[in-house]
Amino acid sequence: MKIIDGKKISNLIKEEIKKEVDSILARGGKAPHLAAVIVGEDGASLTYVGSKVRSCKQVGFNSTLIKLPENISENLLIDEIYKLNNDKLIDGFIVQLPLPNHIDEQKILMAIDPNKDVDGFHPTNFGKMALNMKTFIPATPFGIMELLKRYNIETSGKNTVVIGRSHIVGRPISILMNSKGIAGDSTVTVVHSRTKNLEHYTKNADIIVSALGIPEFVKENMVKDGVVIIDVGITRVKDNSKEKGYVIKGDVDFDSVGKKASYITPVPGGVGPMTIAMLLKNTLLSKTYNK
Ligand code: NAD
Repeated sequence: MKIIDGKKISNLIKEEIKKEVDSILARGGKAPHLAAVIVGEDGASLTYVGSKVRSCKQVGFNSTLIKLPENISENLLIDEIYKLNNDKLIDGFIVQLPLPNHIDEQKILMAIDPNKDVDGFHPTNFGKMALNMKTFIPATPFGIMELLKRYNIETSGKNTVVIGRSHIVGRPISILMNSKGIAGDSTVTVVHSRTKNLEHYTKNADIIVSALGIPEFVKENMVKDGVVIIDVGITRVKDNSKEKGYVIKGDVDFDSVGKKASYITPVPGGVGPMTIAMLLKNTLLSKTYNK
């Protein structure tokens, strides 16, 4: 069993981005500038946004954090987005999800200029992705594709089962792995909460991408020998023996499934660290896409 080391690869990608930034600066250009909008004081969201901003510094990007109150109206939030759309200094920006209940998430994502939508959630960018056109690919699936490429994992003609059909992970990764190209050309089956006899599919899978958010859902008896496991799940499980009071668990029972797998991503340290690296990559790409 080989561990797919997302931490190592994400650091490598950040180093590559830093080199690109240095050469932009050496040519007299401006460093990429990423902005992040956060609404409210949700602890987990603040942590995620904080690490995105810190990572910008690491690679030499400029960054702006826009903190807005929990009770901001939908219209005022849209005004903020229009300001960012029109701000020539900002190359790309994200709106940290989830948003408070009184705000329609889809409406907000639709207000973002697709040329600055480095999360790749705007329907224009999602559509381009589905048509195999150059665009911003959502960071988590983009990170998975990068791991498959860099570990030279054969995907062409393989049976891939994606567990989960969310807009941010399951659906896009199923499209990407099914598309023509490196890390693609796979025969993809998407299973979800309504799937009957899910094991039937996972047992026949050469590659499993699990993105459902139920800790240790995928067990040894559900997979075949030599399977490649990409575990996207991140769930906090209460554990009073830990200082933080919880441990992070993936969707896959790592100890038992790992024994049968040819490759496996650990949690933490697998797909997770790739997400920020690929957001930075999209921000760098926005410089070239928008020229
Ligand atoms: P989601 O809640 O939007 O979707 C979950 C999906 O799982 C749904 O499509 C649902 O049909 C499916 N599902 C639920 N129960 C099921 C069952 N019993 N059998 C089969 N399918 C079932 O989730 P999401 O936003 O895609 O996130 C999934 C997991 O990935 C979460 O743990 C999340 O924290 C994690 N995540 C990690 C990253 C990262 O950076 N590594 C990024 C995004 C999400």
